[in-house]
Amino acid sequence: MSEGRDSMKMLIQGQLEDAQGADVIRVANPATGDAVDTVPKGTREDARRAIDAAADAFKVWSEKPSIERSRVLLKTAELVRASVEDLGATLTMEQGKPLGEAKGEISSFANTCEYYAGLIGRERGAHNPFSTGEGFFIVTKRPLGVVGAILPWNFPVSLMGWKVAPGLAAGNTFVVKPASTTPITDIKVGSLMVKAGLTPGAVNVVTGPGAVVGEELLDNPKVAKIAFTGETGTGKRIMEGSAKSIKRLTLELGGSDPMIVCDDADIELAVEGAAWGRFRNCGQSCTSVKRLFLFESIAEQFVKMFAEKVRTIRIGNGMEKSTHMGPVHTAEQREKVESMVEDAENRGAKELVRGGRPAGNELSHGNFLSPVVLTGVDYDSKIAKEECFGPALPIFVVKDLDEALERANDTLYGLGSSVWTKDLEKAYHAAERIQAGTTWVNSPPIARAEVPFGGFKQSGFGRELGLEGLDHYYETKSIQVLEYSKGKKWAFPIN
Ligand code: NAD
Repeated sequence: MSEGRDSMKMLIQGQLEDAQGADVIRVANPATGDAVDTVPKGTREDARRAIDAAADAFKVWSEKPSIERSRVLLKTAELVRASVEDLGATLTMEQGKPLGEAKGEISSFANTCEYYAGLIGRERGAHNPFSTGEGFFIVTKRPLGVVGAILPWNFPVSLMGWKVAPGLAAGNTFVVKPASTTPITDIKVGSLMVKAGLTPGAVNVVTGPGAVVGEELLDNPKVAKIAFTGETGTGKRIMEGSAKSIKRLTLELGGSDPMIVCDDADIELAVEGAAWGRFRNCGQSCTSVKRLFLFESIAEQFVKMFAEKVRTIRIGNGMEKSTHMGPVHTAEQREKVESMVEDAENRGAKELVRGGRPAGNELSHGNFLSPVVLTGVDYDSKIAKEECFGPALPIFVVKDLDEALERANDTLYGLGSSVWTKDLEKAYHAAERIQAGTTWVNSPPIARAEVPFGGFKQSGFGRELGLEGLDHYYETKSIQVLEYSKGKKWAFPIN
């Protein structure tokens, strides 16, 4: 389509630009179906321009003293915080999440910038003498070069921060490819980075289809690394495509987090945690409570309290203050969730809390779906086996921790998990046995800039955030310095 008006542009070499062609992508508000704006439908040629700009900027940015890179990240954080109202509202309109959540996401982008701005100045190298005394060696860290950051739609801004903040701190430059349904806030954030003093071209934001712009990032030999967040299926394609030029990779993929509530848990707290952990962002978080395991001795009490709690969740347009939960991001996503619920019901599950599309005029144009809670769910149901990315939660009853752990690990995924108990020894025992990148104890999933985040199994590899998040943006360089004065010679025959 071509709407040809003064729409949002993409960011290449510090300038807002149109695509080569006239085609645009219409970005729709999931709560109303109305257009928020349009963005250019980028082509491979546009992606190449951005990659070239990032490669040029790398020569400048990577040579800057770390204190200057740090300063730009701090200034970015300041500008982003000052624009939190506008950025938050834009994010709500294009993604659907309630304004409070959206503003929290914007602040978390600023936190990540501040965290890595602080970390970069504390980096230490290593220097060691050779054991033989012939000389010494130095281990340094070098940035990788141009990074392709490919983003999903569920946390478009914070996940951009998880990539660009450590990557820029380490001296890399970026071509960011947002999801086609949530590109606008990322473009605005990228523009603020330029305003903060970033070398033009060090962060480019190119909008367009994954199969075009994303594939160019995979194909282009100038791209040294792909930092990808998205579905496990797409992650497999990213691995294949990156193999051609042996790109470095971090993959943050899908999850099906178990939440285990033991018989000695604080039930009230766990009920709150389960509702927040499942229905925040309308259930569309990679790490969120996706399978709930209850010890049988507390199951009846928990289920009753949980059902009451979930019924209080108010659905609506995220721009309204009273809204607890916004719409599902797309109509297609809503259908996927509905079909998983239907599949579970066909296998005998019952709706403890009835979901469905809410009636009412003001909601009928959006992709709204009421929270669904299912009991009596067969372990072979899709909702138990696959990632359910929406407001539906299956509950399972288990006799003890051993059964809970066995069931919890019976999944291809291994992203997050949580254990709820007052016995910290038990919690530690469980956490060590759950095959997941993070186990929260008595808390729903909340990522923090200081703590590494990532998956086991098919939830991906590599870590974002924390010290490890920085490591993934470096090559390790070893320099061995021999002292010639000690008369070392190389000659054949070797003996
Ligand atoms: P998706 O895999 O459909 O898309 C992610 C991005 O990949 C988009 O920008 C898309 O355009 C691009 N893409 C698609 N095909 C491509 C190709 N052939 N080459 C290059 N790029 C391509 O994911 P989504 O639906 O946007 O996001 C939801 C998924 O993301 C869920 O599975 C969720 O669990 C996962 N996720 C994981 C984490 C984590 O940290 N592990 C965080 C958030 C979301």
